[in-house]
Amino acid sequence: MANPFTLGVASGEPLPDGVMLWTRLAVDPVHPDPKRPGGMAPRAVEVRWQLAEDERFTRNLRQGSIQALPVWAHSVHVRAAGLRPGADYFYRFRTGNQHSPTGRTRTADDPDSTRPVRFAVADCQRYEHGLYTAYRHLAGERPDVVFHVGDYIYELRESARTVRRLEPPRRETVTLHEYRNRHARYKSDPDLQAAHAAAPWVPVWDDHEVLDNYRGRGDGSAAFLKRRGAAYQAYYEHMPLRVRPRDGALQMYRRRTYGMIADFLALDTRQHRDATHMLGPAQEEWLLTRLRTSPVRWRILIQPLFFARRFVPGPPPNLRRDSWDGHPEQRARILAAGAPGLVVFSGDVHNAWAAELKSDFLDPAAATVGVEFVASAISSLPPATDVPAVLSANPHLRFFDGRRGYLSCTAGPTDLRVAYRAVDFVDVPGAPLRTAAEFVTEGSGLTFENASSK
Ligand code: FE
Ligand code: CA
Repeated sequence: MANPFTLGVASGEPLPDGVMLWTRLAVDPVHPDPKRPGGMAPRAVEVRWQLAEDERFTRNLRQGSIQALPVWAHSVHVRAAGLRPGADYFYRFRTGNQHSPTGRTRTADDPDSTRPVRFAVADCQRYEHGLYTAYRHLAGERPDVVFHVGDYIYELRESARTVRRLEPPRRETVTLHEYRNRHARYKSDPDLQAAHAAAPWVPVWDDHEVLDNYRGRGDGSAAFLKRRGAAYQAYYEHMPLRVRPRDGALQMYRRRTYGMIADFLALDTRQHRDATHMLGPAQEEWLLTRLRTSPVRWRILIQPLFFARRFVPGPPPNLRRDSWDGHPEQRARILAAGAPGLVVFSGDVHNAWAAELKSDFLDPAAATVGVEFVASAISSLPPATDVPAVLSANPHLRFFDGRRGYLSCTAGPTDLRVAYRAVDFVDVPGAPLRTAAEFVTEGSGLTFENASSK
């Protein structure tokens, strides 16, 4: 068999005692025949896996084998358990005489730990718009964990603004085969593979993993639900998730806790959305309960959409209805939960912002009850924005940067630090890493640590 590890390796969903390991066999990542996704024959393939505490696979070696099945596009999801908390591990796969690259992963910290947590936040990686240079830099930082806040793929037909091209037919994805091939196209990028191989990931999705601006069950038609089910299945097949899709649904909201330091509350702002609820009632109750009762230092929302009010002066619409500005009542309930150490991460708008979250966004004297850090995009190009007008119309918005990039963060017992990493260009390789700004917060209010625009 030709090399089947063309999509790299990944790990994710870290717990104090375990982590998921992922790969997908594909000798030809974007093979055109729907009956042979990845160019693989329609039969099960045995895959051996190994995990150890050192890169030479000698210390505490664990291993096993698993069947890669055609029904899941020969993806494998290995549940590694019984591991030490807050520890680095290395893993690899083998089938026949073919070996995968080695990945590095890390378990979550022990429940009593007060050790600082180093994490990165990335999002929005439209393939045609640019190179994933930012991911190469992110991989070099080797954070404890990487959060992806959505638009991992774009279902759209090929963009007119093209740094690199999709393969034919370059159309909007609708079928399971088309979603699989779009994921495989993205996953074949070596910089994205490096970021997955460097640290465990906890991803949440936004709209473009399925369809631009969709919500919930869409128009309720059988055609849409079939399409959404296909998109969810392809997403699962390309991510190191703990749970599988069932009956066209995939449980995505979840909590990942790091010691006494951080509760990462990963939200699903799409699947359960209806006209009045961004999250749906069950997810909101789960979230509010955890915000009120969590004993840890930081309550951190991991979700795609701009959370602070953002009024855009000029002709209407002045508020983005697809974002939290379309669901102000639910946003107000979250902000009123009285959660100390509330931090929101978001993305989606393809530019970097920072905000103070106010108990009443229309009252400049209102209390600051949390902070928000908006990641730019790994590669997706931004819409035109009148930045000075938006900043002056929204005094709680404190920072803007228009470059591609990601966030590099450290949550500790006293403060939380966020560095805005940026690359100056994504149309040719080799952009060096910049730090656009650094913020420190103790939970309510932002301080510029270093505003040098290097
Ligand atoms: Fe996006
Ligand atoms: Ca989006």
